[in-house]
Amino acid sequence: MLRAESRANVRQAMHKSIIAEERVSGTGLTKEELQRYSRHLIMPEVTAEGQKRLKAARVLCIGAGGLGSPAALYLAAAGVGKLGLVDFDRVDLTNLQRQILHGTKDIGRSKLESARDRLGDINPDIEVELHECRLSSENAAQIVADYDVIVDGSDNFATRYLSNDICVFAQKPNVYGSVFRFEGQTTVFAPHLGGPCYRCLFPEPPPPESVPNCAQAGVLGVLPGIIGMLQSIEAIKLILGIGDPLIARLLHFDALKVQFRELKLRRDPQCPICGENPTIFRPIDYDQFCGTREDASIPGISVQELKRKMDAREAFELIDVREPFEFEIARIDGAKLIPLGEIPDRADQLHGQQPIIIHCHSGSRSAQAVRLLKQRGLTNVYSLEGGIDAWSDFIDPTVPKY
Ligand SMILES: [Zn+2]
Repeated sequence: MLRAESRANVRQAMHKSIIAEERVSGTGLTKEELQRYSRHLIMPEVTAEGQKRLKAARVLCIGAGGLGSPAALYLAAAGVGKLGLVDFDRVDLTNLQRQILHGTKDIGRSKLESARDRLGDINPDIEVELHECRLSSENAAQIVADYDVIVDGSDNFATRYLSNDICVFAQKPNVYGSVFRFEGQTTVFAPHLGGPCYRCLFPEPPPPESVPNCAQAGVLGVLPGIIGMLQSIEAIKLILGIGDPLIARLLHFDALKVQFRELKLRRDPQCPICGENPTIFRPIDYDQFCGTREDASIPGISVQELKRKMDAREAFELIDVREPFEFEIARIDGAKLIPLGEIPDRADQLHGQQPIIIHCHSGSRSAQAVRLLKQRGLTNVYSLEGGIDAWSDFIDPTVPKY
């Protein structure tokens, strides 16, 4: 548990803004800006001085999705002078339930271009910098170097560990947020300001097979709105140097119970990156997660090859390892449903005389199923690359995407 003195250390470290004084003194506000931000200026905790701090500040949002949308919208509206966005994705119909930066007219566009238009409309006075790429060990340090605070809205472990590590190295606060179904949580990781980092809590990423379907658990659309907004409040507080930041505290929100709970966090002296004897000195790519890259040891088959086999009436078994509710939403004709969790018990139903092609939503669970079946001696097993999503994209657009 956090001791009183370290809480005092956090307070003491936080009595001033993270924006260097010389950058603020060189910043002015136009007549229009004085009007635009008048509701800020009349608060004694903000005033024109605070608004200049916001104008001098540079915030990086990792991801322009569920968390990044509300965070970026409010940071732009609040007058954060430079807003950076990292994303590589395009706007998809399934995004619109929660990613409120984007509209129906933006489907198919790059998320960053869509975001730039929307943010420019909210506040044309700010600079929006687009980083159209996946954050990687190659580019992360360079991108983060330009910013004062990082708002991590990523939805996968690979990016989360990378953004944590880069922020620890660069001594920049990392405003963390995550959502799952009806629950979300947020905190500020900042070892240099007295709190823990992500690795103090979770030193290493979980093994890939324990993260079956990061993208498929579902989330109530409003929930990332709430968590993303809390992230933007924390970023603004750090910039203004006011209040008690969520350093060494994790705020958990349960939408079904409408309950906020606060957990105290502490730094781990054994932490592999911010501890007394660190073992990590450079950024690491954990790209085996969430199907971000195919595992080379798993034999794969493309959707085009599967279609060819079907058209040629070749003999094979097609096994769908998703859950029954997913099978209800969308299916590939001829597939037999055996959810991933039942594969170990039902493996003997699969004889292996014919090739077995396994598919799931996007290729991650099917790769695990192939791994399991190979361990049981089956050799003629293949994972459908990209899953039913790719089937819908490239072969049969009448199969719904979800
Ligand atoms: Zn740490």
